Amino acid sequence: MELITDIKVKEAKHSKVHEVDFNALEFGKYVADHMFICDYADGEWQQPMIAPFANLSLNPATLALHYGQTVFEGMKAFRMHDGRVNIFRIEKHYDRFVRSLDRMCMAAPPKEMFIEGLMKLVELDKAWAPGQPGSALYLRPFVYASEAKFGVKISEQYRFIIFTGPVPELYAKPIKVKVETNYVRAVKGGTGFAKCGGNYGGAYYPTKLAREQGYDQVLWTDGRENKFIEESGMMNVMFVINDTLVTPPLSDSILDGVTRDSLLTLAGNLDYKTEERPVSVEELEASFRNKAITEAFGAGTAAVVAPIQTIHINGIDYQLPEYDADSLMNKIKSKLGKIRTGLEEDIYGWNCLL
Ligand SMILES: *Cc1c(COP(=O)(O)O)cnc(C)c1O
Repeated sequence: MELITDIKVKEAKHSKVHEVDFNALEFGKYVADHMFICDYADGEWQQPMIAPFANLSLNPATLALHYGQTVFEGMKAFRMHDGRVNIFRIEKHYDRFVRSLDRMCMAAPPKEMFIEGLMKLVELDKAWAPGQPGSALYLRPFVYASEAKFGVKISEQYRFIIFTGPVPELYAKPIKVKVETNYVRAVKGGTGFAKCGGNYGGAYYPTKLAREQGYDQVLWTDGRENKFIEESGMMNVMFVINDTLVTPPLSDSILDGVTRDSLLTLAGNLDYKTEERPVSVEELEASFRNKAITEAFGAGTAAVVAPIQTIHINGIDYQLPEYDADSLMNKIKSKLGKIRTGLEEDIYGWNCLL
């Protein structure tokens, strides 16, 4: 691998990889041995480094802690069938990272630094990429405002970090969701399309209320009229209505999911009809009444697809049929899994092999 970016590496003395039981992984529990760090100051990115994973020391006035200038990405590297490791759709994640950072007035790391930082880090911690079906090495690049000054202002200093950790397959069990018409996640003109920390913090309370009512997640509706479906929890949402894969169109209140895009592409190439168009709550109700809806699921990097079993709309729990291996979601999920692990050819240029 020929790198343009000069990354200083300080290797960990002892790897902790042997302390992990890869057959009993939990999401978010383990981190790999190293992390990438680069600071932005005086109008430019400084010397990038890879160092042993360690705590940060933060001045309490650090701007990110007060005014929420934080942006992250969530991506995965997969252990291929032949043992190599593959980082999935690195450029698409980078482009979204930059859009998120721009919206939050934050400095964006150069593309080579992002790509080469990830490649070098994953290469170094390759042993942490699990091989169990559905598992992956989760990659978490993020930037936060690191200037220590407690007045309200756009930070002039940032820190870009990447750390990684092995994760199992998530959400096998179908979930129950509730159409939310009181609280909203995002509004027109807001930050819904950006992967910024505040979007998550603001979503917790309505999600907590939904959990108390026996649901796993909320189905967010638009912020203006609460008439149109937007996302499912922190995932994009897809439906199969009249044998067509339907998902709401991208907007400034919907996050441009890499999984959403990948699944739409794969469904199209498997000759399914796909539509990106507004889906109203009324249409959902009608499609349950006339049995036109056969599938509903969330789409995101963490779980790939999160099958939905129940949708609560205006006091009624509507049930979806059980899903088997022939359901559209499982077919496209399985196709995606095969491409990412090298069992099927990657004709899209999505894989970045180390
Ligand atoms: C990250 C995220 C998604 C899913 O995006 P992927 O790139 O598929 O992981 C969807 N919605 C929201 C709000 C998100 O933050």
